[in-house]
Amino acid sequence: MKSVLIIFAIGSIFLMNIQAQTPKDLAQIWEKQHVSKLQPSQVRHKDLQKYLEQLKSFDLKVEEVGRSYANREIYQIEWGRGATKVLMWSQMHGDEPTATSALIDMFAFLQRNRDKDWVKRLENALTIRAVPMLNLDGAELYQRRNLQFIDINRDARALETPEGKLLKKLRDEWSPDIGFNLHNQSSLTTVGNTNKQATISLLAVSGNAEGKSNEGHLRNKRLCAVMIDALNQFIKGHIGRYDDTYNPRAFGDMISAWGTPVILIETGAFHGKGEMFLVKLNFIAFLSALEAIVDGSEKKANPKIYDALPFNNTGNLFNVIFRKANIINFNETTEPFTADVAINAERRRAEENAPTFVQEIGDLSVFSGLSEYDAQDFYLVQKKGLLRTGASGEFFFYRKTRKIDWKAKDLEKEFPPDAIFLNGRWMKGEKLLKKK
Ligand SMILES: [Zn+2]
Repeated sequence: MKSVLIIFAIGSIFLMNIQAQTPKDLAQIWEKQHVSKLQPSQVRHKDLQKYLEQLKSFDLKVEEVGRSYANREIYQIEWGRGATKVLMWSQMHGDEPTATSALIDMFAFLQRNRDKDWVKRLENALTIRAVPMLNLDGAELYQRRNLQFIDINRDARALETPEGKLLKKLRDEWSPDIGFNLHNQSSLTTVGNTNKQATISLLAVSGNAEGKSNEGHLRNKRLCAVMIDALNQFIKGHIGRYDDTYNPRAFGDMISAWGTPVILIETGAFHGKGEMFLVKLNFIAFLSALEAIVDGSEKKANPKIYDALPFNNTGNLFNVIFRKANIINFNETTEPFTADVAINAERRRAEENAPTFVQEIGDLSVFSGLSEYDAQDFYLVQKKGLLRTGASGEFFFYRKTRKIDWKAKDLEKEFPPDAIFLNGRWMKGEKLLKKK
């Protein structure tokens, strides 16, 4: 009896070892082991260097491979000794940071878990190289473009940026079998015709103007299907895809055309969850895809799962909508009119206050806001008087029952508002307007 139990126990340990990691396993692994501690948007060059020092202390190969326009060191991490060559690069746009942290976590995990059978198989089958934070100067300023104010992702043909030149060189000298082009999209990108945020969007890039498929492109579609299956366990309904409009200036298209079929992963947002949740999703997506390449499950994946993803959409979703506000443009007239008011926030690092601006005024009943407030019992007044699109989202709210002299010299002083909304936040009267 005892020996049967022992054999059973050994058998299950063996099984556990050869079975693929489920997406939930990968999520747990990340929760326990991730080494990126800062929110991705807070990571500057010096923070990246600290992360890389940590990777080096785990004996990972990290080397300087080039310099940015402002002469900052650009690094490449390498892991594995297998025949299949994978090239990944992140933050080609400086204000798109999620994947940089996810790459750090992935390499730290792989290197420190080489005793696990499934990691060993990855190590023997793959060589992974990654350039985290390709656009260091842009990342320092938290802007899309590099310090020449060129969009590196429109520089694949002209190669006028040192960062773009470097990326092409790294590809050409190594001829990887697959490329991962890692970006962030707007948090207001939506899935198809829904008002749901696209938390992750994918594109298997064909790399030609006709959108013709080759074996690498088909493999990448199957890999996208693997990632969709994995991510569906966390963000079902929040995955979209980009249409494959060929752009001969963009790196995803050109690297595919040069012989390295590229998968584009764009990370958006998930309302109510922070940046680290998105890092975890990236970690799960990367490792699910890499595992599927190595264990061959990619070959059985159904590319129709990828084809069935709705395309991304924009314009259906706003950061905040105030519904049925009674608007008073007190410098123009004191007669109120009723309208919905939508504001959006600009992209900023987590610790900064993102400026907001009025995006739409009118009947917004077909749109959604990540936050919505019922303003029908309130006057809404733009701080400077005239509510107009493009104005900053600085609003005073007055109960409709109050008697206000709209011609008052200093409105705010003489008639203190019941609620004040500035820069996407309530400064006063937070709970006064009903949240929808
Ligand atoms: Zn981008």
